[in-house]
Amino acid sequence: MRLESFASWKALAEERGVPLWRIVLDYEIHQKGRTEQEVWSRLAQVYAVMRDAVETGLREPRQTFSGLVRDTGKKLLSSSIYVISPEFSLLIAYATAAKETNACMGRVVAAPTAGASGILPGIYTFLAKHHKTQEKTIYEAMLIGAGVALIIEKKASIAGAVGGCQAETGTAAAMGAAGITYALGGNADQILESVALTIMNMLGLICDPVAGLVELPCVKRNGSAVVIAAAAAQMALAGDTAVIPVDEVVAAMGEVGAIMDSRFKETALGGIAATPTAQAIARRIWSDTASIRYEEPPL
Ligand code: SF4
Repeated sequence: MRLESFASWKALAEERGVPLWRIVLDYEIHQKGRTEQEVWSRLAQVYAVMRDAVETGLREPRQTFSGLVRDTGKKLLSSSIYVISPEFSLLIAYATAAKETNACMGRVVAAPTAGASGILPGIYTFLAKHHKTQEKTIYEAMLIGAGVALIIEKKASIAGAVGGCQAETGTAAAMGAAGITYALGGNADQILESVALTIMNMLGLICDPVAGLVELPCVKRNGSAVVIAAAAAQMALAGDTAVIPVDEVVAAMGEVGAIMDSRFKETALGGIAATPTAQAIARRIWSDTASIRYEEPPL
């Protein structure tokens, strides 16, 4: 099956006269040996976990062990100051709430990674609540997102430790932008343009988690990534393009990731993680942790 590039994905869909998601569904069936029903059932399970991660993050007090992350989603939900609209604030709330569920050791879907695990739940929840997108369409959007991640993983990377945060939150945002564009009626060209526009606007983003914990800036980046995804989808749906073909944009992302200094690849040695305040936080967290002694239970 030719799922090696965005160009071949689109060509295959055109050749067979099917939507992009159908190619990914067939890929799952043939490459993974699953039945079509098994794939749809699995997508329903994944979507349920994503929705639950958002709801848990918005409902329950959220504070991580380190104290770095604290109720971002809930703060957004209860704020009545709107920079653009209540929906804009809610989109960010959904994404940060789901990511906080992950940071607090709750159950999430690592799509494509745990660090970026708030972005797709935020976007799908937003589509369902505010565009009344049907579940079947969301499952199809998830298949398109899987196709996007599959190709980016082959051509660049989806891991912060390999390609920086552009690879992690950037890929999730591109998956989400493709899903928004599809759910709101975009054609194959517009879907792929939304991917290119997203990656183009997240290129070079470094991975710099404070104290090496996937909390800060990770939660905030899940919030900003959904905004970039929405902007990319908005431009693509309006008929705008990235000008540079999506395969070339992803190749550029791979090149940037390859030459990125190792300080910016999840080592917590550069960027935000290297600021004096972050360094002081890291010392506090790790000295507190070192003081916790394990004691054998009494016999
Ligand atoms: S900063 Fe690093 S760990 Fe955090 S979301 Fe980005 S890639 Fe993941």
